[in-house]
Amino acid sequence: MAASGESVLPSLRLTLGQAVKRLREHHGPPQPPPTSDPFELILLENVAYLAPPPRRRAAFELLKKTVGTSPAAILRATKKDLEKVTGHGILKGTFADKLRRCARIAAEDFGGDLGAALRQPVEAAKRALRAFPGIGEPGAEKILLFTGRHALLAPDSNALRVLVRLGLVREEKSYAKTYAAGRRAGEGLSAETGAVQEAHLLLQRHGQTLCRRSAPRCVECPLAEECAYARRERARRRPGGVRPNGKEPAVAGANQAARVRKRSVRSAGGASPYASGRGRRLRARSGRRHKRS
Ligand code: SF4
Repeated sequence: MAASGESVLPSLRLTLGQAVKRLREHHGPPQPPPTSDPFELILLENVAYLAPPPRRRAAFELLKKTVGTSPAAILRATKKDLEKVTGHGILKGTFADKLRRCARIAAEDFGGDLGAALRQPVEAAKRALRAFPGIGEPGAEKILLFTGRHALLAPDSNALRVLVRLGLVREEKSYAKTYAAGRRAGEGLSAETGAVQEAHLLLQRHGQTLCRRSAPRCVECPLAEECAYARRERARRRPGGVRPNGKEPAVAGANQAARVRKRSVRSAGGASPYASGRGRRLRARSGRRHKRS
């Protein structure tokens, strides 16, 4: 695996394959998307803006049942019917228009069938998909993954957060660069699209449930022992552990020893950084003995 930053992160002890296996044991088999058709996957991205996954799925099922998912059916539908669907998310009017734009592009630029475009080499296939509203590079790669065309991990923001926290991917300054590192992290998984689909879904589910953006539930996580983020948090909370500024843990008892030394200096009138009152008396006595001899 050639994840960016893997070589510089300290004591990485979990591979992506091992993490996926544990996530499968913990979460169970993931639920695949409701379709593997490329145009329907594009619609799924646009059907309910910012809706949680169950509502997005419900919106897609409603579209299928009430309008249909062919470009022609969507172009025939009234805006009101489309808004009943897109109302599962926010900005229902805008997204009803986006569904229509998707249908128009599919009909006019691809003759209603995206199959030939997706059979092109990967970069050309991605370019074709990015012509649709709401489809950027991650979206295009996800569609190629779930149509079974290319085994690209295509981690969404939830999955990417898990990869970064585990220490399998280094967070870069831009999301695009971090995403590219996430894609590379998946290269060592398998050439089988089924295995990569499962990894994508399990990482996504983990990010949505336990490894949430704020307050991740590390105590319940099957990856906590090796997770770089959880290890840092444990070290930080340990008495004398790593400080928030990232400095090394203090040596146990070192602070107390420093305090004792300070007191000694004060009581010794600054004579010696290590002198105690008893030490001074002993040295004075030994000095007198030295003079007598
Ligand atoms: S241990 Fe915590 S931070 Fe690490 S993957 Fe699990 S939930 Fe996320």
